[in-house]
Amino acid sequence: MGSNQKFKEFVMRTAESVADLSQREKVAYAIDKYEESFATGLSRYSKLTVARQRAGYLKNKALNELDRYLIEFEDNFTSNGGKIIWARDAEEARDEIAKMIKKRGVSKVVKSKSMITEEIHLNEFLINKGIDVCETDLGEFIVQLAGDKTFHIVTPAMHFSKKDVSTLYAEKLSAPENFTPEEITQFTRNHLRPKFAEAQMGITGANFLISDMGGVAITENEGNGLLTMSVPKTHLVIAGIDKLIPSLENLDVFWPLLASHGTGQSVTAYNSIITGPRKEGEFGGPEEVILILIDNGRTNILAQEKQRQALSCIKCGACLNACPVYKLIGGKAYGTTYQGPIGAVLTPFLLGFDEYSHLSFASSLCGKCDTVCPVIIPLHNMLIYNRNYAIKNGFKAISNTRRVKWFTKVSSSRKLLDLPSSSLKNMIVGQIMKKSWGKEREMPKLAEKSFNQQYKERN
Ligand code: SF4
Repeated sequence: MGSNQKFKEFVMRTAESVADLSQREKVAYAIDKYEESFATGLSRYSKLTVARQRAGYLKNKALNELDRYLIEFEDNFTSNGGKIIWARDAEEARDEIAKMIKKRGVSKVVKSKSMITEEIHLNEFLINKGIDVCETDLGEFIVQLAGDKTFHIVTPAMHFSKKDVSTLYAEKLSAPENFTPEEITQFTRNHLRPKFAEAQMGITGANFLISDMGGVAITENEGNGLLTMSVPKTHLVIAGIDKLIPSLENLDVFWPLLASHGTGQSVTAYNSIITGPRKEGEFGGPEEVILILIDNGRTNILAQEKQRQALSCIKCGACLNACPVYKLIGGKAYGTTYQGPIGAVLTPFLLGFDEYSHLSFASSLCGKCDTVCPVIIPLHNMLIYNRNYAIKNGFKAISNTRRVKWFTKVSSSRKLLDLPSSSLKNMIVGQIMKKSWGKEREMPKLAEKSFNQQYKERN
């Protein structure tokens, strides 16, 4: 940690975000609103802990027997008429998509909100190939229009105020100034409708892959996902191998937990289960459904007994909203697809500890994330395991190691702790901590006398 470029960029972005008071105000406002809805969402449960335990158990069961569930899912999905392509990493997935698009002469694509397409940088890839890619989720649409990055795994445009969005629409879409949120929604709807009809391919992610029926469960609030998957001729689903759940009946626990922890709703507005292409005699639906199942580093996590449980994440975003670090620095500072506590656990395994181990250190370890997680992932323990893994495997900052050695030496020496001159001690600490403390904050002063000295004097 610390010596690499990614770490330096992270520190720079973090400093910028912390200094951006306007962004902090917008994030605080959005999370305050979320917290109210979240409390309402949880209050609907009479036995929340039981539901969380059951959800955690089911996801862990699917992970521990993933080989069996993946085969069962593949059998069922293909016998429903769907096609599965396995991809080891992002490059393989993108290559497959490129072949698919070429073969079908696709020039226009509509997308519903999907984190895995961001993980494999699909939009950039398709746009470079000359494909017209249109995000249809309102938040993602705003982010795409602004040429920005997703800020949060559930609310991608959290860092935009109503005014920001209205100004953006006026600039980019020649919409009237000072649009209200209702007008923005209506305008976006009218803007997007023809896109669905023109697109030859609709791309979605998946919230859950249901093993015993070979179905893909997709949940959303706007209905744009429903249009994305049903209007174009080809529906392409992209999902990680961690999305498996054993059975259709398990949705009774997962759908409400995802809704209550994601947005505070009792259940999300649109919940679809895709079981293959349009059948003979059916009126609507795509002519073909293709699923790309991606590993992209997930088996690296699966191989870690202690961190494996992180794959049971259902991407509700609750741990981000609870995290004091996320609240302060926001989503973009992480520079990764998955932010907050879960991002800090997953990303080093997905993208490499050599460049991303610093994320597991960017936490106060307060443990609030554990208390809100609907599948009871012990996130703060996992951050500690990751730190341990990073240090044991040599991914550590030289400067950090020196600092820890220095601290150990000083704190175990009575003579040094009792040094008579506090100004000298303040100077030494100030010098050592200068870089990490930053210019914006004033370094607290050490007490005139050590605790030991004061204790002796009083007694
Ligand atoms: S780790 Fe838990 S709280 Fe965080 S996004 Fe995943 S499921 Fe939600």
